[in-house]
Amino acid sequence: MTDVQIFIDKIKNSQNMAVLTGAGVSAASGIPTFRGQAGLWKKYRPEELANPQAFRSHPDIVWEWYAWRRDLIRQVKPNLAHYALVEIEKKIPAFTLITQNVDNLHQLSGSINVVELHGNIMKSKCIDCNHPTSDNLNLKAGLPYCRSCGGLIRPDVVWYGEYLPMDALKKAQTAAMECDLFLSLGTSALVEPAASLPYLAKANGAFLVEINMEETPLSSQTDIFLIGQAEKIISEITHYL
Ligand code: NAD
Ligand code: ZN
Repeated sequence: MTDVQIFIDKIKNSQNMAVLTGAGVSAASGIPTFRGQAGLWKKYRPEELANPQAFRSHPDIVWEWYAWRRDLIRQVKPNLAHYALVEIEKKIPAFTLITQNVDNLHQLSGSINVVELHGNIMKSKCIDCNHPTSDNLNLKAGLPYCRSCGGLIRPDVVWYGEYLPMDALKKAQTAAMECDLFLSLGTSALVEPAASLPYLAKANGAFLVEINMEETPLSSQTDIFLIGQAEKIISEITHYL
């Protein structure tokens, strides 16, 4: 059997599958990953903007970047990788889709059990009191402030150096520990604590599969590593389920 055939067999027999997705899954929709030239906006690297210090010192620039990303994301659609995961979810008794993406495309494509580890770029909250805001922010009219405490409103995403939402992380860790099949899809497997989830799954007996365009630090630890485009490989696999 080829590696792809073994993976298909594992999906067919899985009672509990967990998938960890990263920016590579949305690349085919036209959303650039952070790593690489395409991630640059004006002259900034994403790490220079996606952190609390940058926001405190230059909220206008950080908000301009998020407004640009929100506009981009509003115009794109889920791709074959997102839809393939919807099909797989329908076939497995327990299925958890853990995503580091903030673009909402998994939910838009129809995935049900989605755990957002890094928040959602379309949502906003107060930087001081954490109060979420559903206001339709008009960023062109100036910086947005909290109605309760007057603090600055910020995008509700996890920035570099920040903790992940505890409930999402707990759900992700439980899914990793309880699954019999774990797939790491289109993620560099570098950013903690998400990067530990595949190891947690493996340590608890799961069969570990990775699909990525290039080798990552995880690749040598997997049971199967499939190199190539996520949208191509995973959508072909669904034809055999
Ligand atoms: P990442 O760590 O998930 O890295 C992207 C990975 O995708 C790389 O390993 C690359 O080889 C792989 N890849 C690229 N195209 C692929 C394809 N077609 N098929 C398979 N693999 C492919 O993410 P990052 O770009 O370093 O971003 C870091 C964090 O920033 C993310 O975890 C997320 O919170 C945020 N982010 C989100 C989005 C989004 O929501 N779409 C986009 C960029 C960044
Ligand atoms: Zn507030």
